[in-house]
Amino acid sequence: MMHRPGHIKLAAALAVGAFLAAPPAHATGRPAVAALQVTLRHHHVYRGPVDGVVGVRTTTAVMRFQRRHGLTADGVVGPKTRRAFGRFARHVLGSRPLTPGLAGWDVAELQFALAWHGFPSGAIDGGFGRHTERALIKFQRWAHLTPDGVTGPGTFRALRTPLPRCPIALAWPLQATVGSPFGPRGTGFHPGIDLPAPAGTPVGAAAPGRVVFAAYDPSGYGKLVEVAHGDGVISMYAHLSALSVHVGQSVGTGRRVGRVGSTGEATGPHLHFEVRLRGAAVDPVPALH
Ligand SMILES: [Zn+2]
Repeated sequence: MMHRPGHIKLAAALAVGAFLAAPPAHATGRPAVAALQVTLRHHHVYRGPVDGVVGVRTTTAVMRFQRRHGLTADGVVGPKTRRAFGRFARHVLGSRPLTPGLAGWDVAELQFALAWHGFPSGAIDGGFGRHTERALIKFQRWAHLTPDGVTGPGTFRALRTPLPRCPIALAWPLQATVGSPFGPRGTGFHPGIDLPAPAGTPVGAAAPGRVVFAAYDPSGYGKLVEVAHGDGVISMYAHLSALSVHVGQSVGTGRRVGRVGSTGEATGPHLHFEVRLRGAAVDPVPALH
């Protein structure tokens, strides 16, 4: 893609001043940009993904908003544009404690940062509802903070730490190209990777371990196998058509745990492969060999 001046200007504007309180950039997106995208959606000028990446759709939406509010349509989020965003955009992450019931730019930043730290909370929409509260409490417990569901300096600090990574090497559960990666998807967050394969394709354990779950999961995973590998690492194999193991069984790398299917919330046959570290979803790709 060509770099247009608008991209650079917007990126520069987001990098300074009021945005310093935001957590650092992640590999594929920044919380402040995600919050901007949520704000633009809130103002009905943007329908693109909340991915934290400044692209042509985000810049175009900023310019559309500026034209509607009689501002210079330069795609730069300066003080005037920010003021025109209204109350929703007044607070940046870290400038006030966040509690259930609040809404705004900083809540969107929180939701985006929580998701990247392994605790997605449904739609990233800037509204601090039950899902966000649950995700925050899980994260606080994970980060050894008081799990009170209210963000304070400790939570903001913890959200600025590097993202958790899978500490063990993993084998591919089946040979396929990643169809949908770990990360933002639409207004939500995909906590694993999708490996498209024909129904019935054998699925192998990614590392040696013990089966801790092998049953139908009603929350959307469908037929699901979970294998614990020690060090707090659990691998998950979802949407299976058949289970090949039982709880308590020890498995070696590559041992068949089930077969590809489309049970649960799946539109077609694929393996949803997810890895958790002490409950936090982590991108499995850097650990796959
Ligand atoms: Zn998936």
